[in-house]
Amino acid sequence: MAISKSRGHVVINTEECKGCELCIEACPSDVLFLSDKFNTHGYHPSAYKGDACTGCGICFYTCPEPGAITVFKRWDLMTETAACSHCGGDYKVFHTDEKPDVLICTNCLKPIKDSQ
Ligand code: SF4
Ligand code: SF4
Repeated sequence: MAISKSRGHVVINTEECKGCELCIEACPSDVLFLSDKFNTHGYHPSAYKGDACTGCGICFYTCPEPGAITVFKRWDLMTETAACSHCGGDYKVFHTDEKPDVLICTNCLKPIKDSQ
């Protein structure tokens, strides 16, 4: 995915999504849609159009499935990137308070190296 300059960014965990479409209906920016692909549970997951998310968080609070939606509120200020061994490319990364020395890939939400 091309690097977006939008203020916000949203990542859908396709395996946790049940395709209920509540986030799609709730998004004031109309940047979510239902994918035509299936996840392993047989649902069409929600997906991000890739641009114009404001980071408002409404989709996150609307979603009934814990862990299905991650919102980055200041995507435009996140500049650190690293190569992710899972995704096979360079993506923005972030740290958590729990493990500040571990870099998490914003594309797959996993540590960028299997060994971490
Ligand atoms: S954070 Fe707001 S703008 Fe971004 S996808 Fe969710 S509801 Fe839409
Ligand atoms: S609200 Fe949650 S479960 Fe429903 S489509 Fe959106 S991400 Fe999937």
